[in-house]
Amino acid sequence: SKRIDVKDLNVYYGDFLAVEGVTMSIEPRQVTALIGPSGCGKSTFLRTLNRMHEVIPGARVTGEALIDGTDLYGPGIDPVAVRRHIGMVFQRPNPFPTMSIAENVLAGIKLNNKRISKSDADQIVEHSLRGANLWNEVKDRLDRPGASLSGGQQQRLCIARAIAVQPDVLLMDEPCSALDPISTLAIEDLITELKERFTIVIVTHNMQQAARVSDRTAFFNIAGTGKPGKLIEIDNTS
Ligand code: ADP
Ligand code: ADP
Repeated sequence: SKRIDVKDLNVYYGDFLAVEGVTMSIEPRQVTALIGPSGCGKSTFLRTLNRMHEVIPGARVTGEALIDGTDLYGPGIDPVAVRRHIGMVFQRPNPFPTMSIAENVLAGIKLNNKRISKSDADQIVEHSLRGANLWNEVKDRLDRPGASLSGGQQQRLCIARAIAVQPDVLLMDEPCSALDPISTLAIEDLITELKERFTIVIVTHNMQQAARVSDRTAFFNIAGTGKPGKLIEIDNTS
């Protein structure tokens, strides 16, 4: 679990300024919620913390994003190594549909070309699925395809896949907006449990959700329309 310090971060798509002058600190062992109108740059900002914008032609970042003091955009930093330390969960649950549940959990580790023994693999699968509050529901069907699970289970599988790599930070981009209310509450419970182990940043459209799960909530304004700073932080811990 690590702290993130963002300083004067701007993100451009070509000439278009999508995120303007974001300065904020994201504390370890806390959930930080990002909230704001559609198109204000929340997803873009989240992707810059994972250097994911680099796969988008024309995307450009200025400013700093320090993870425990190391600038993600510093010279010699390998974007692939960054992504290994920063897990991401998306709006639509995206397990590999034909891969088994167990293989899905291990997919991130395999992408990193890590070789692991069968017994280590079994242990990682169980530990990660327990960590995602999914173990009891799937332990008898680990070889079934990821697509055989319900939407809420699929999202918890994606969380298991993200935490299997043992990242420092978990980024979640509207992880509940494709889910029913019961599955949403299950994910919210899970998020508050996971914050003991990971620094968590969650983008949400839902004020109530931000209040339920977050220790701090940052409001984004649309770039170019507001005053400098662009973030109002509300401390939910006090
Ligand atoms: P989500 O809101 O589910 O994260 P997307 O990331 O696909 O959806 O898109 C977010 C916003 O960015 C939308 O308003 C979309 O129209 C816009 N957008 C996505 N890709 C592009 C693009 N290549 N050019 C311009 N706008 C885009
Ligand atoms: P939010 O997540 O807050 O809805 P986004 O980060 O998706 O906002 O988008 C911020 C702005 O950047 C929007 O105006 C969107 O249309 C634009 N945008 C997003 N992705 C792209 C892209 N790949 N190319 C160009 N513009 C984009």
